[in-house]
Amino acid sequence: MTHALSAYPHLLAPLQVGSLTLKNRILMGSMHTGLEDLPGGFERLAVFYAERARGGVALIVTGGFGVNASALGVSDHAEHSTLCTEAQAVRHRVVTGAVHREGGLIALQMLHVGRYDYASGGVSASALRSPLSPHPARALSHDEIGQIIDDYARCARLARLAGYDGVEIMGSEGYLINQFLAPQTNHRSDHWGGSAEARRRLALAVVQRVREATGADFLIIFRISLLDCVEQGSSWDEITALAQALEEAGVSLLNTGIGWHEARIPTIATLVPRAAFSWATRRLREAVTLPVITSNRINWPVGAYGGGGGGYADMVSMARPFLADADFVRKAAEGRALDINTCIACNQACLDQAFAQQAVSCLVNPRACRETEWPTGSARQPLRVAVVGAGPAGLSCATEAAARGHAVTLFEGASQIGGQFELARRIPGKEEFDETLRYFGRLLAQRGVTLRLGERVAPDDLAGFDHVVLATGIVPRQRPIPGIESDKVASYLDIIEGRKAAGRSVAIIGAGGIGFDVGEFLTHAADGKTEAERFNDEWGIDPEYAARGGLKAPVDEVAPRQVYLLQRKSSKVGDGLAKTTGWIRRTLLKKRGVQMIAGVTYERIDDAAQHITVNGEAKTQAVDT
Ligand code: SF4
Repeated sequence: MTHALSAYPHLLAPLQVGSLTLKNRILMGSMHTGLEDLPGGFERLAVFYAERARGGVALIVTGGFGVNASALGVSDHAEHSTLCTEAQAVRHRVVTGAVHREGGLIALQMLHVGRYDYASGGVSASALRSPLSPHPARALSHDEIGQIIDDYARCARLARLAGYDGVEIMGSEGYLINQFLAPQTNHRSDHWGGSAEARRRLALAVVQRVREATGADFLIIFRISLLDCVEQGSSWDEITALAQALEEAGVSLLNTGIGWHEARIPTIATLVPRAAFSWATRRLREAVTLPVITSNRINWPVGAYGGGGGGYADMVSMARPFLADADFVRKAAEGRALDINTCIACNQACLDQAFAQQAVSCLVNPRACRETEWPTGSARQPLRVAVVGAGPAGLSCATEAAARGHAVTLFEGASQIGGQFELARRIPGKEEFDETLRYFGRLLAQRGVTLRLGERVAPDDLAGFDHVVLATGIVPRQRPIPGIESDKVASYLDIIEGRKAAGRSVAIIGAGGIGFDVGEFLTHAADGKTEAERFNDEWGIDPEYAARGGLKAPVDEVAPRQVYLLQRKSSKVGDGLAKTTGWIRRTLLKKRGVQMIAGVTYERIDDAAQHITVNGEAKTQAVDT
């Protein structure tokens, strides 16, 4: 790999951590893939991680493995997703061996979810129910806490036996150790609670025992929560005191986490500005001497994160960006950052799939986690392939087919590539979608795909091809509402593409993803704030850290117009949106005063108003658009 060190001099510089040399400052952060639960799962994980190691990432952290049989909650898959026996450790050797052969390093994340156990409520510092579980947790006894500390030590010893270079102790995101640290969830008054010092004892005991169990040269990463984003979360003084104590207890690297899973503040979605929380890492870095890793919504090889010269951190952690592009580091190092397939933080094929108990992949890189099913290399027989439609699916298909040596022609009816992405990228907060079009635009040229824009194909046009792939997407539906032809009616295409201007009051018919997109488009106000200020104000994040959890009172935006969002179904408006981002979109529009109405029958539209029936009651909405 040729290193264009001048482009990212800090990011690509080696980092010495104890006896280990990390070849650069980039860590592939922990991410649940679900591969371990599939047939041949560890072999699949090995290929997945090996590709990323080959792509140049210095250090990989696995998804979380339970430190005992119940640490991830009640699960049918505990055998594959926990590490508590030597027989289990043996299975991991295929993974560690594959990464080492590619010149990478790999650490196992050790996890105990505590009260984030949906099925039973789990165990925790105190008998409190998490908002993510219908059941309260059971408070651990003193002896049980001692046993869990032993379990962490055993898991770390087994990780070493399995060939890992280190472990990451998950101490953030609201999991068990974090539950002991914060007064919100630790109401104990014994050895393990009652003061900040006592609440820290579990974290420190785990680190000390793990260090004893693994020796001085083993990497111990502690993932510390810099912003709990919940009421009665840790204070900044408590976080720095914890970080200093962890350093003394033998931690090698401090990785950082932002926001508990139950927090109602987005931390990794597309609308979160890039590196929105790196200010907190920089603050922590001033309080300790061990290397600090920054994380959350970083998807670009920006030099400032690599340490030195007033940087935010000594290392940068990225997780989803390595689903989107296994060769992220190699491309950055070769001065080809514009060839990186950028993670757009949509969560659609990764986290949303994980929550649906499905193996994850990536919307912009469908090969992710399917490496063993979709081999690369030239096809035996080059064919003439037509792909119709240049949305993300058509673009991906065309460039992949071309990479295998086929002669590909990509037809697109519009005058530019992108399909629905071309629209979505215009929605405030979805600017990242531009990156996908930049990436595929370059790749089409690099791989020699013939691009035919502005052409709507007929069957005759496709006669000479061996294969035709239809990726034409959707056609907007026109509802048969009396008066729909009125001048005051606009389609979402009219609005987003700017062909029609919306009035001061707007009723949006349909509350699916596009309805919400239009709602966000129409309620976004230009207010002169920077993107970061706006995000922090809107969601109530305090970079001054005056209160526990890093929270402050949110400042609701004043939308430039009144918007109503209507749906026929009587269920909660926006219920069908994606699991990990739907709540963000509902909250955002509520903050902007959007009125959401379910159970609507559309009666008619006239020049004065829209007439609807809501749960049997006739209503008139005097809207402009
Ligand atoms: Fe990123 Fe979306 Fe791919 Fe997930 S599915 S890795 S969020 S681009």
